[in-house]
Amino acid sequence: MAPQYDAIVVGAGFGGMGAGIQLDRLGLSNFVILERENDLGGTWHVNHYPGLAVDIASVTYSYSFEPNPHWTRLFAPGTELKKYAEHVADKYDLRRRMRFDTVVGGARWDEEQQHWVVSIENGESLTARYILAATGFLSQPYTPPFPGIDTFAGKIIHTTAWDNDFDLTGRKAAIIGTGATAVQLIPEVAKKADALTVFQRTPIWVVPKVDTAIPKPVQTLFERVPATQKAARMVNTTMLEALMVVGVLHFKQAKPLNKAAALLAKAHLRTSVKDKETRRKLTPDYDFGCKRPTFSNLYFKTFNEEHVRLETNSIDHIEPDGIVTADGHKTEIDTLILATGFNLWDVNFPAIEIIGRDGVNLGKFWRDNRFQAYEGITVPKFPNFISLNSPYSYSGLSYFTTIEAQMKHMGRLFGEMFRRGEKTFEVTEHANTEFLDRVTDKLDSSVFYSGQCSTARSYYYNQHGEAALLRPTSTVNAHREAVSFPLDDYTYGSASV
Ligand SMILES: Cc1cc2nc3c(=O)[nH]c(=O)nc-3n(C[C@H](O)[C@H](O)[C@H](O)COP(=O)(O)OP(=O)(O)OC[C@H]3O[C@@H](n4cnc5c(N)ncnc54)[C@H](O)[C@@H]3O)c2cc1C
Repeated sequence: MAPQYDAIVVGAGFGGMGAGIQLDRLGLSNFVILERENDLGGTWHVNHYPGLAVDIASVTYSYSFEPNPHWTRLFAPGTELKKYAEHVADKYDLRRRMRFDTVVGGARWDEEQQHWVVSIENGESLTARYILAATGFLSQPYTPPFPGIDTFAGKIIHTTAWDNDFDLTGRKAAIIGTGATAVQLIPEVAKKADALTVFQRTPIWVVPKVDTAIPKPVQTLFERVPATQKAARMVNTTMLEALMVVGVLHFKQAKPLNKAAALLAKAHLRTSVKDKETRRKLTPDYDFGCKRPTFSNLYFKTFNEEHVRLETNSIDHIEPDGIVTADGHKTEIDTLILATGFNLWDVNFPAIEIIGRDGVNLGKFWRDNRFQAYEGITVPKFPNFISLNSPYSYSGLSYFTTIEAQMKHMGRLFGEMFRRGEKTFEVTEHANTEFLDRVTDKLDSSVFYSGQCSTARSYYYNQHGEAALLRPTSTVNAHREAVSFPLDDYTYGSASV
């Protein structure tokens, strides 16, 4: 039996949409994008907490082939990203091929039929020649199992399920977590709450955010002369690239640059926070770059406010009206905000059960061996499978660098398969091993292995202590290899149906 679809994409974020656009360009237009939420946009649909904005300037955080001249700020707020996602979906005719409220449970390669069978949680099965997993990195919310949390009598909100109708005015709030989300949220909550206690486990490096409104005449210029926005993108991307490649990936060779970034963050802390003890508590004891750097002009200053308190004792348990720390102190609260982030390595990689050739289970394979994916996109024994959120796939600081390199990889791979008149592809063991060895080797120079990251608790590391998320090369290299990888790194085959 011929499969129902050319391709099934799982996830309607910027990854899944990029995959859909590329499938159309390749002539594989009979595809469906399955999404568990009730709308598109992924990260930018799910997250809508106060203060949400990009932390990469918007000229760079967008598809290069679909610039948006209408960003109102250098770092656009989350609402504009959601609007941009909707614009892309409409312009590229993706929306009619999206199916919402559809939770994908798993996918199994049918060797006989040479296609994938995708199971949906309502019991339905769909078949497709190709499957593309775009389920996101930061898409599985995490709540630590604090003893007693179920007994809490007040309001509990996770940042991924923000209640827009909830009024924080006059509340006694606690925020647990001081990651990138908390850095954006804390100043906003402090504006409304009567009292705010921030529970910090690990301090975060924060550098000033050079943010400003983009005046209308500049927006008009970007619209009328797209080359100007392109130039702005190039300048911004180059700066990010320097920070990432020199400061993080070549830490061993360029320590002074990394240290300079840390000094900038320390100076920012010193000039922002009045109290010496609070400054000490907010100073990280791990190297800059072990965690994704964060940008804010408001975060540190918030801790000067009378009604804001920083708590660094660990949480022992939660009671109906408060949080008790290990030293026995109870902070009375009526609102508990969980900025506790996401579970990457236990629940993602992969986010759904994927069974490939010879019954190999991808999750088990990754856990029993090492997390790996050739060029961060394909895995041996998983024919016709594109894994967009893979180990070693995240390239550079803007996610769009990653997805666009992956779209290019798809173009070259599918192009060659079609040229040969074939319908299946699978990466060779040899090519995959060679890539894994190469990235492992390169990571040696990075801050992750040459720096002091042991106290960072960074999501860049997996449960085996490997920094297996980022591709340790320049984005230029990622894009070059996406259009020049050896075509024989794959085997190609025909399908009788
Ligand atoms: C608050 C926040 C701010 C961020 N800011 C930036 C930034 O400034 N710059 C940057 O580069 N990156 C940022 N990121 C990272 C961001 O996730 C990526 O930039 C990008 O949006 C990822 O797109 P994606 O499509 O891969 O994943 P997502 O946007 O997470 O989309 C994945 C989709 O898959 C769906 N899905 C998952 N499992 C299933 C299933 N089983 N069945 C059906 N559907 C499923 C999810 O519901 C989701 O809609 C941020 C992330 C967060 C959480």
